[in-house]
Amino acid sequence: MNDMILLKQGEIVLKGQNRRTFEARLIRNVKNRLKPFGDFRIYAVQSTVYVEPQGDCDMDGALEAAKTIFGIASISRAAACEKDRDAICEMAIKYLGPAIKSAASFKVESKRSDKSFPMTSIQLSQYVGGLLAEAFPETPVNVREPDFTVNLEVRDYAAYVHGPVIEGAGGMPVGANGKVVSLLSGGIDSPVSTYMIAKRGVSVIPVHFFSFPYTSEQAKQKVIDLAGILTDWCGPLRVEVVPFTHIQEEIRRCCPEEYFTVIMRRFMMRIAARIAADNGCKALVTGENLGQVASQTLEAMAVTEECAGLPVLRPVIALDKKEIVELARRIGTFETSILPYEDCCTVFTPRHPRTRPRLDEVREAEANMDVDGLVNEAVLGTERVEA
Ligand code: ATP
Ligand code: MG
Repeated sequence: MNDMILLKQGEIVLKGQNRRTFEARLIRNVKNRLKPFGDFRIYAVQSTVYVEPQGDCDMDGALEAAKTIFGIASISRAAACEKDRDAICEMAIKYLGPAIKSAASFKVESKRSDKSFPMTSIQLSQYVGGLLAEAFPETPVNVREPDFTVNLEVRDYAAYVHGPVIEGAGGMPVGANGKVVSLLSGGIDSPVSTYMIAKRGVSVIPVHFFSFPYTSEQAKQKVIDLAGILTDWCGPLRVEVVPFTHIQEEIRRCCPEEYFTVIMRRFMMRIAARIAADNGCKALVTGENLGQVASQTLEAMAVTEECAGLPVLRPVIALDKKEIVELARRIGTFETSILPYEDCCTVFTPRHPRTRPRLDEVREAEANMDVDGLVNEAVLGTERVEA
Protein backbone atom coordinates (compact mmCIF):
# COMPACT_ATOMS: atom_id res chain seq x y z
CA MET A 1 0.00 0.00 0.00
CA ASN A 2 2.85 2.44 -0.74
CA ASP A 3 3.73 2.33 2.95
CA MET A 4 6.69 4.62 3.65
CA ILE A 5 8.27 6.90 6.24
CA LEU A 6 8.56 10.69 6.14
CA LEU A 7 11.35 12.25 8.19
CA LYS A 8 11.17 16.00 8.72
CA GLN A 9 14.50 17.72 9.13
CA GLY A 10 15.13 19.74 12.25
CA GLU A 11 17.60 22.56 12.82
CA ILE A 12 19.51 21.63 9.72
CA VAL A 13 17.08 23.73 7.71
CA LEU A 14 18.44 26.88 9.36
CA LYS A 15 21.87 26.27 8.00
CA GLY A 16 21.91 28.40 4.83
CA GLN A 17 25.15 27.83 2.95
CA ASN A 18 26.06 24.59 4.70
CA ARG A 19 22.68 23.11 4.20
CA ARG A 20 23.68 20.86 1.32
CA THR A 21 26.54 19.27 3.21
CA PHE A 22 24.36 18.85 6.25
CA GLU A 23 21.64 17.26 4.19
CA ALA A 24 24.06 14.93 2.42
CA ARG A 25 25.37 13.84 5.81
CA LEU A 26 21.88 13.29 7.13
CA ILE A 27 20.95 11.10 4.17
CA ARG A 28 24.11 9.07 4.60
CA ASN A 29 23.30 8.58 8.29
CA VAL A 30 19.71 7.58 7.55
CA LYS A 31 20.89 5.04 4.96
CA ASN A 32 23.39 3.52 7.39
CA ARG A 33 20.93 3.42 10.26
CA LEU A 34 18.13 1.81 8.25
CA LYS A 35 20.24 -0.68 6.29
CA PRO A 36 19.51 -3.59 8.68
CA PHE A 37 15.77 -3.23 8.05
CA GLY A 38 15.75 -3.80 4.29
CA ASP A 39 16.34 -2.09 1.00
CA PHE A 40 15.02 1.49 0.99
CA ARG A 41 15.07 4.30 -1.49
CA ILE A 42 16.10 7.35 0.54
CA TYR A 43 16.19 10.92 -0.77
CA ALA A 44 15.49 14.45 0.42
CA VAL A 45 13.23 17.12 -1.04
CA GLN A 46 12.12 20.31 0.69
CA SER A 47 13.40 19.62 4.23
CA THR A 48 11.93 16.14 4.21
CA VAL A 49 13.70 12.81 3.90
CA TYR A 50 11.63 10.20 2.09
CA VAL A 51 12.15 6.57 3.04
CA GLU A 52 10.52 4.23 0.54
CA PRO A 53 10.80 0.45 0.93
CA GLN A 54 11.89 -1.45 -2.15
CA GLY A 55 10.25 -4.81 -1.65
CA ASP A 56 9.95 -6.53 1.71
CA CYS A 57 11.23 -4.38 4.58
CA ASP A 58 10.83 -4.35 8.35
CA MET A 59 8.89 -1.10 8.57
CA ASP A 60 8.30 -1.28 12.33
CA GLY A 61 12.02 -1.75 12.92
CA ALA A 62 12.88 1.09 10.58
CA LEU A 63 10.41 3.39 12.33
CA GLU A 64 11.93 2.62 15.74
CA ALA A 65 15.45 3.14 14.42
CA ALA A 66 14.49 6.44 12.81
CA LYS A 67 13.76 7.79 16.30
CA THR A 68 17.49 7.68 17.09
CA ILE A 69 18.74 9.64 14.08
CA PHE A 70 19.96 13.13 15.00
CA GLY A 71 18.87 15.87 12.64
CA ILE A 72 15.30 14.57 12.43
CA ALA A 73 12.62 16.68 14.13
CA SER A 74 9.59 14.50 13.46
CA ILE A 75 8.62 11.20 11.91
CA SER A 76 5.47 9.90 10.28
CA ARG A 77 4.67 6.56 8.81
CA ALA A 78 2.67 7.40 5.71
CA ALA A 79 1.06 6.02 2.59
CA ALA A 80 1.73 7.70 -0.75
CA CYS A 81 -0.89 8.16 -3.45
CA GLU A 82 -1.72 10.18 -6.52
CA LYS A 83 -2.25 13.92 -6.09
CA ASP A 84 -5.97 13.73 -6.64
CA ARG A 85 -8.64 14.45 -4.03
CA ASP A 86 -10.47 11.17 -4.52
CA ALA A 87 -7.29 9.10 -4.60
CA ILE A 88 -6.29 10.82 -1.35
CA CYS A 89 -9.65 10.04 0.16
CA GLU A 90 -9.55 6.41 -0.91
CA MET A 91 -6.08 6.04 0.57
CA ALA A 92 -7.18 7.64 3.84
CA ILE A 93 -10.03 5.14 4.11
CA LYS A 94 -7.82 2.19 3.28
CA TYR A 95 -4.74 3.18 5.29
CA LEU A 96 -6.28 4.88 8.33
CA GLY A 97 -9.77 3.38 8.34
CA PRO A 98 -9.20 1.03 11.30
CA ALA A 99 -7.65 3.85 13.36
CA ILE A 100 -10.51 6.23 12.55
CA LYS A 101 -13.05 3.53 13.39
CA SER A 102 -11.60 2.88 16.83
CA ALA A 103 -11.01 6.57 17.66
CA ALA A 104 -13.38 8.57 19.89
CA SER A 105 -13.33 11.44 17.36
CA PHE A 106 -11.25 12.65 14.41
CA LYS A 107 -10.38 15.56 12.19
CA VAL A 108 -8.50 16.05 8.93
CA GLU A 109 -5.57 18.41 8.59
CA SER A 110 -3.92 19.21 5.27
CA LYS A 111 -0.69 20.81 4.11
CA ARG A 112 0.18 21.60 0.59
CA SER A 113 3.67 22.46 -0.57
CA ASP A 114 2.65 21.95 -4.21
CA LYS A 115 0.86 25.24 -4.75
CA SER A 116 -0.42 24.12 -8.14
CA PHE A 117 -2.79 21.66 -6.48
CA PRO A 118 -6.28 22.91 -7.37
CA MET A 119 -7.65 23.03 -3.80
CA THR A 120 -6.50 25.01 -0.76
CA SER A 121 -5.54 23.06 2.34
CA ILE A 122 -8.83 23.96 3.99
CA GLN A 123 -10.87 22.86 0.99
CA LEU A 124 -9.04 19.55 0.84
CA SER A 125 -9.56 18.94 4.58
CA GLN A 126 -13.25 19.70 4.27
CA TYR A 127 -13.67 17.51 1.21
CA VAL A 128 -11.86 14.49 2.62
CA GLY A 129 -13.30 15.08 6.11
CA GLY A 130 -16.82 15.00 4.68
CA LEU A 131 -16.25 11.72 2.88
CA LEU A 132 -14.56 10.13 5.88
CA ALA A 133 -17.46 11.18 8.09
CA GLU A 134 -19.79 9.37 5.69
CA ALA A 135 -17.56 6.31 5.57
CA PHE A 136 -17.21 6.14 9.36
CA PRO A 137 -20.49 7.50 10.75
CA GLU A 138 -19.81 6.02 14.17
CA THR A 139 -16.80 8.31 14.73
CA PRO A 140 -17.73 11.97 15.25
CA VAL A 141 -15.69 14.83 13.83
CA ASN A 142 -14.08 17.07 16.44
CA VAL A 143 -11.88 19.81 15.02
CA ARG A 144 -10.99 21.28 18.43
CA GLU A 145 -9.73 18.26 20.35
CA PRO A 146 -9.73 15.25 18.06
CA ASP A 147 -8.74 11.87 19.41
CA PHE A 148 -7.15 11.08 16.03
CA THR A 149 -5.86 13.36 13.30
CA VAL A 150 -5.78 12.33 9.65
CA ASN A 151 -2.88 14.24 8.11
CA LEU A 152 -2.76 14.92 4.39
CA GLU A 153 0.27 16.38 2.65
CA VAL A 154 0.34 17.33 -1.00
CA ARG A 155 3.99 17.44 -1.97
CA ASP A 156 6.17 17.57 -5.11
CA TYR A 157 5.83 14.04 -6.44
CA ALA A 158 2.87 12.61 -4.58
CA ALA A 159 0.31 13.08 -1.84
CA TYR A 160 0.81 11.45 1.56
CA VAL A 161 -1.67 10.28 4.14
CA HIS A 162 -0.60 9.70 7.72
CA GLY A 163 -1.76 9.49 11.30
CA PRO A 164 0.19 10.61 14.35
CA VAL A 165 3.43 12.56 14.05
CA ILE A 166 6.17 11.08 16.24
CA GLU A 167 8.86 13.24 17.82
CA GLY A 168 12.32 12.70 16.30
CA ALA A 169 15.69 12.71 18.07
CA GLY A 170 16.31 16.40 17.28
CA GLY A 171 19.82 17.83 17.09
CA MET A 172 22.03 17.79 14.01
CA PRO A 173 23.31 14.97 11.81
CA VAL A 174 26.25 13.17 13.40
CA GLY A 175 29.44 14.11 11.60
CA ALA A 176 28.20 17.48 10.36
CA ASN A 177 29.99 19.38 13.13
CA GLY A 178 33.30 17.56 13.35
CA LYS A 179 34.79 14.96 15.61
CA VAL A 180 35.70 14.66 19.30
CA VAL A 181 37.28 12.21 21.71
CA SER A 182 34.87 11.27 24.49
CA LEU A 183 36.21 9.85 27.76
CA LEU A 184 33.92 6.93 28.43
CA SER A 185 33.92 5.29 31.85
CA GLY A 186 31.44 2.64 32.90
CA GLY A 187 29.50 5.20 34.94
CA ILE A 188 26.16 6.90 34.38
CA ASP A 189 27.42 10.33 33.35
CA SER A 190 29.85 9.81 30.49
CA PRO A 191 27.49 7.79 28.25
CA VAL A 192 24.97 10.62 28.65
CA SER A 193 27.57 13.27 27.84
CA THR A 194 28.61 11.24 24.78
CA TYR A 195 25.00 11.10 23.62
CA MET A 196 24.56 14.84 24.21
CA ILE A 197 27.58 15.89 22.20
CA ALA A 198 26.68 13.50 19.36
CA LYS A 199 23.28 15.16 19.28
CA ARG A 200 24.96 18.41 18.29
CA GLY A 201 26.16 16.75 15.11
CA VAL A 202 29.53 15.56 16.37
CA SER A 203 31.02 12.15 15.68
CA VAL A 204 32.75 10.51 18.58
CA ILE A 205 35.77 8.39 19.32
CA PRO A 206 35.27 6.86 22.78
CA VAL A 207 38.36 6.39 24.91
CA HIS A 208 38.42 4.14 27.95
CA PHE A 209 41.21 3.87 30.52
CA PHE A 210 41.60 0.35 31.74
CA SER A 211 43.56 -0.69 34.85
CA PHE A 212 43.84 -4.44 34.65
CA PRO A 213 44.01 -6.33 37.01
CA TYR A 214 42.77 -3.65 39.41
CA THR A 215 39.71 -3.39 37.22
CA SER A 216 38.31 -6.53 35.62
CA GLU A 217 37.64 -7.76 32.09
CA GLN A 218 33.96 -7.38 32.93
CA ALA A 219 34.48 -3.68 33.64
CA LYS A 220 36.02 -3.31 30.20
CA GLN A 221 33.24 -5.33 28.55
CA LYS A 222 30.70 -3.12 30.28
CA VAL A 223 32.18 -0.07 28.57
CA ILE A 224 32.18 -1.83 25.18
CA ASP A 225 28.53 -2.72 25.80
CA LEU A 226 27.72 0.90 26.66
CA ALA A 227 29.40 2.01 23.46
CA GLY A 228 27.32 -0.61 21.65
CA ILE A 229 24.13 0.96 23.00
CA LEU A 230 25.39 4.40 22.00
CA THR A 231 25.94 3.32 18.38
CA ASP A 232 22.18 3.60 17.90
CA TRP A 233 22.61 7.35 18.39
CA CYS A 234 26.23 7.98 17.41
CA GLY A 235 26.73 5.59 14.49
CA PRO A 236 29.42 2.88 14.54
CA LEU A 237 31.91 3.34 17.40
CA ARG A 238 35.40 2.02 17.91
CA VAL A 239 36.53 2.21 21.52
CA GLU A 240 40.16 3.04 22.21
CA VAL A 241 41.06 1.02 25.30
CA VAL A 242 44.11 2.56 26.94
CA PRO A 243 46.22 0.51 29.38
CA PHE A 244 46.34 2.66 32.51
CA THR A 245 47.77 0.38 35.19
CA HIS A 246 51.40 1.42 34.95
CA ILE A 247 50.48 5.10 35.13
CA GLN A 248 48.34 4.58 38.20
CA GLU A 249 51.09 2.59 39.92
CA GLU A 250 53.62 5.28 39.13
CA ILE A 251 51.30 7.97 40.50
CA ARG A 252 50.93 5.97 43.70
CA ARG A 253 54.66 5.52 43.95
CA CYS A 254 55.69 9.11 43.20
CA CYS A 255 52.94 11.52 44.23
CA PRO A 256 51.32 12.70 47.46
CA GLU A 257 48.16 10.76 48.12
CA GLU A 258 45.89 13.81 48.20
CA TYR A 259 46.86 14.49 44.57
CA PHE A 260 46.35 10.98 43.16
CA THR A 261 43.03 11.72 41.52
CA VAL A 262 43.81 15.03 39.90
CA ILE A 263 47.12 13.77 38.54
CA MET A 264 45.47 10.66 37.20
CA ARG A 265 42.90 12.83 35.46
CA ARG A 266 45.65 14.97 33.94
CA PHE A 267 47.15 11.81 32.43
CA MET A 268 43.74 10.99 30.98
CA MET A 269 43.66 14.44 29.37
CA ARG A 270 47.15 14.12 27.89
CA ILE A 271 46.46 10.69 26.41
CA ALA A 272 43.02 11.65 25.12
CA ALA A 273 44.57 14.74 23.51
CA ARG A 274 47.13 12.54 21.74
CA ILE A 275 44.39 10.26 20.41
CA ALA A 276 42.46 13.38 19.35
CA ALA A 277 45.44 14.72 17.42
CA ASP A 278 45.99 11.36 15.70
CA ASN A 279 42.35 11.26 14.56
CA GLY A 280 41.56 14.86 13.66
CA CYS A 281 39.40 15.44 16.75
CA LYS A 282 38.96 19.04 17.86
CA ALA A 283 37.86 18.69 21.49
CA LEU A 284 37.68 16.31 24.45
CA VAL A 285 34.40 15.44 26.14
CA THR A 286 33.91 14.26 29.72
CA GLY A 287 30.96 13.40 31.94
CA GLU A 288 32.14 15.76 34.66
CA ASN A 289 29.44 17.41 36.69
CA LEU A 290 30.08 20.42 38.91
CA GLY A 291 30.40 19.57 42.58
CA GLN A 292 29.57 15.88 42.22
CA VAL A 293 32.89 14.61 43.60
CA ALA A 294 36.19 16.06 44.83
CA SER A 295 37.75 16.04 41.37
CA GLN A 296 34.85 18.02 39.94
CA THR A 297 35.25 21.36 41.69
CA LEU A 298 36.01 24.41 39.54
CA GLU A 299 39.58 24.43 40.86
CA ALA A 300 40.15 20.74 40.18
CA MET A 301 38.72 20.98 36.68
CA ALA A 302 41.00 23.93 35.90
CA VAL A 303 44.06 21.96 36.99
CA THR A 304 42.84 18.88 35.11
CA GLU A 305 42.28 20.58 31.78
CA GLU A 306 45.40 22.73 31.96
CA CYS A 307 47.40 20.05 30.16
CA ALA A 308 44.78 19.09 27.58
CA GLY A 309 45.74 21.65 24.95
CA LEU A 310 42.31 21.62 23.32
CA PRO A 311 38.81 22.48 24.50
CA VAL A 312 37.32 20.19 27.13
CA LEU A 313 33.54 19.99 26.72
CA ARG A 314 31.36 18.83 29.60
CA PRO A 315 27.80 18.47 28.39
CA VAL A 316 26.36 17.36 31.75
CA ILE A 317 28.24 19.92 33.83
CA ALA A 318 25.09 21.72 35.01
CA LEU A 319 22.55 18.91 35.14
CA ASP A 320 21.27 17.46 38.40
CA LYS A 321 21.97 13.78 38.96
CA LYS A 322 18.25 13.14 38.59
CA GLU A 323 18.25 14.74 35.16
CA ILE A 324 21.27 12.72 34.07
CA VAL A 325 19.63 9.51 35.27
CA GLU A 326 16.43 10.35 33.36
CA LEU A 327 18.43 10.84 30.19
CA ALA A 328 20.42 7.65 30.80
CA ARG A 329 17.17 5.71 31.09
CA ARG A 330 15.75 7.28 27.99
CA ILE A 331 18.79 6.51 25.81
CA GLY A 332 19.05 2.98 27.19
CA THR A 333 22.42 3.13 29.00
CA PHE A 334 21.24 3.26 32.61
CA GLU A 335 20.76 -0.45 33.29
CA THR A 336 24.24 -1.24 31.99
CA SER A 337 25.86 1.73 33.79
CA ILE A 338 24.66 0.54 37.19
CA LEU A 339 26.24 -2.91 36.88
CA PRO A 340 28.60 -3.06 39.84
CA TYR A 341 32.03 -3.24 38.15
CA GLU A 342 34.69 -0.89 39.45
CA ASP A 343 36.34 1.90 37.42
CA CYS A 344 40.00 2.93 37.47
CA CYS A 345 38.87 6.05 39.33
CA THR A 346 38.09 3.90 42.34
CA VAL A 347 41.55 2.30 42.37
CA PHE A 348 43.97 3.98 44.81
CA THR A 349 41.36 6.55 45.81
CA PRO A 350 42.88 9.04 48.25
CA ARG A 351 41.30 9.18 51.71
CA HIS A 352 41.32 13.00 51.61
CA PRO A 353 41.49 14.22 48.01
CA ARG A 354 42.29 17.90 47.51
CA THR A 355 39.18 19.76 46.39
CA ARG A 356 41.28 22.87 45.66
CA PRO A 357 44.45 21.52 44.10
CA ARG A 358 47.28 23.96 43.37
CA LEU A 359 48.82 23.75 39.93
CA ASP A 360 52.36 24.45 41.17
CA GLU A 361 52.15 21.59 43.68
CA VAL A 362 50.71 19.25 41.06
CA ARG A 363 53.51 20.07 38.64
CA GLU A 364 56.08 19.55 41.35
CA ALA A 365 54.66 16.10 42.05
CA GLU A 366 54.59 15.23 38.36
CA ALA A 367 58.24 16.19 38.04
CA ASN A 368 59.04 12.93 39.90
CA MET A 369 57.65 10.92 36.97
CA ASP A 370 58.55 10.34 33.35
CA VAL A 371 55.29 11.88 32.13
CA ASP A 372 56.06 11.76 28.39
CA GLY A 373 57.38 8.22 28.56
CA LEU A 374 54.28 7.01 30.40
CA VAL A 375 51.95 8.76 27.96
CA ASN A 376 53.80 7.26 24.97
CA GLU A 377 53.71 3.79 26.46
CA ALA A 378 49.94 4.06 27.05
CA VAL A 379 49.23 5.39 23.56
CA LEU A 380 51.32 2.63 21.98
CA GLY A 381 49.57 -0.04 24.03
CA THR A 382 46.09 1.15 23.11
CA GLU A 383 43.75 -1.51 21.81
CA ARG A 384 40.89 -0.71 19.41
CA VAL A 385 37.63 -2.55 19.95
CA GLU A 386 34.57 -2.29 17.67
CA ALA A 387 31.51 -1.76 19.82
P1 ATP B 1 30.87 8.71 35.13
O1 ATP B 1 29.54 8.35 35.65
O2 ATP B 1 30.86 9.17 33.73
O3 ATP B 1 31.90 7.64 35.41
P2 ATP B 1 31.64 10.04 37.52
O4 ATP B 1 30.66 10.93 38.12
O5 ATP B 1 31.80 8.67 38.07
O6 ATP B 1 31.36 9.97 35.96
P3 ATP B 1 34.50 10.36 37.61
O7 ATP B 1 34.64 8.92 37.86
O8 ATP B 1 35.22 11.34 38.46
O9 ATP B 1 33.00 10.84 37.60
O10 ATP B 1 34.91 10.67 36.12
C1 ATP B 1 34.65 11.92 35.53
C2 ATP B 1 34.79 11.74 34.03
O11 ATP B 1 36.10 11.27 33.69
C3 ATP B 1 33.88 10.69 33.48
O12 ATP B 1 32.60 11.19 33.23
C4 ATP B 1 34.59 10.30 32.22
O13 ATP B 1 34.36 11.24 31.20
C5 ATP B 1 36.04 10.35 32.65
N1 ATP B 1 36.49 9.04 33.12
C6 ATP B 1 36.51 8.54 34.37
N2 ATP B 1 37.01 7.30 34.40
C7 ATP B 1 37.29 6.98 33.13
C8 ATP B 1 37.81 5.81 32.47
N3 ATP B 1 38.15 4.73 33.15
N4 ATP B 1 37.97 5.86 31.14
C9 ATP B 1 37.62 6.96 30.42
N5 ATP B 1 37.12 8.06 30.98
C10 ATP B 1 36.96 8.07 32.31
MG1 MG C 1 33.09 7.22 37.16
